[in-house]
Amino acid sequence: MRFYILTLFPEMVMQGLSTSIIGRAVDKGLLSIEAINIRDFTTDKHGKVDDYPYGGGAGMVMQAQPIYDAWCSVIRRVGKGVRTIYLTPQGRRFCQADAKSFATEEDLILLCGHYEGVDERVLDEIVTDYVSIGDFVLTGGELPAMVMVDAIARMVPGVLSNQESKETESFENHLLEYPQYSRPEEWKGRKVPPILLSGDHAKVDAWRAEQSLLRTLVNRPDLLDAAVLSPKEIDFLQEHGWNGPTD
Ligand code: SAM
Repeated sequence: MRFYILTLFPEMVMQGLSTSIIGRAVDKGLLSIEAINIRDFTTDKHGKVDDYPYGGGAGMVMQAQPIYDAWCSVIRRVGKGVRTIYLTPQGRRFCQADAKSFATEEDLILLCGHYEGVDERVLDEIVTDYVSIGDFVLTGGELPAMVMVDAIARMVPGVLSNQESKETESFENHLLEYPQYSRPEEWKGRKVPPILLSGDHAKVDAWRAEQSLLRTLVNRPDLLDAAVLSPKEIDFLQEHGWNGPTD
């Protein structure tokens, strides 16, 4: 899968995405991540990429021309239409299901805004998806782009090894993952739950399934509304105070 990140701060993005699991996947050729410097495409002789907003108001707005030309340079190279995401607090909230869905694309363009945002006309021209990483405002789209690339890339087949399995992770079937423990068996007087040392895989699986339900009930009961639950699981949750799906 190929990611093209349109940004004014390419070093920031590339530094954040070149280590650990994602960096290894790039080295193996499973992913390619390219940051395209929007400033390289400005036709302004002073290298300007932003200007004052029409109508007045605080801050500067990123101009349409350099962004459009940077985007066209990618489209020309790819040779076909590419899904283009604008990172914005005004977009649909990004979730794990989106990460899986975007991971089926061969190519993805992410546009990072900065300052007060981007001239609306270029957004109308090139953007297919408006995506937010949460209900807060950041200074730029670089961190959101890095968050999205990380979450999407780990859904690409081969990026995670078996040891980094995604099957039981949080948000699978709208549940949070069970608690994890590693050596030593006792730390600061806190013991690993004995069932995990029993060697009985069926019991371990059953315990983990219950813990996953309990965690979700305590931390994110809203997720349970969309979870596919067996009658036994519903009984278990109700015994622990769940009132059933909220309206
Ligand atoms: N004036 C804009 C507004 O009120 O909607 C916010 C602009 S913000 C300071 C600058 C840039 O950061 C945005 O263009 C966007 O690319 C990025 N950004 C900020 N918060 C974000 C969020 N929660 N999710 C995704 N991108 C965000």
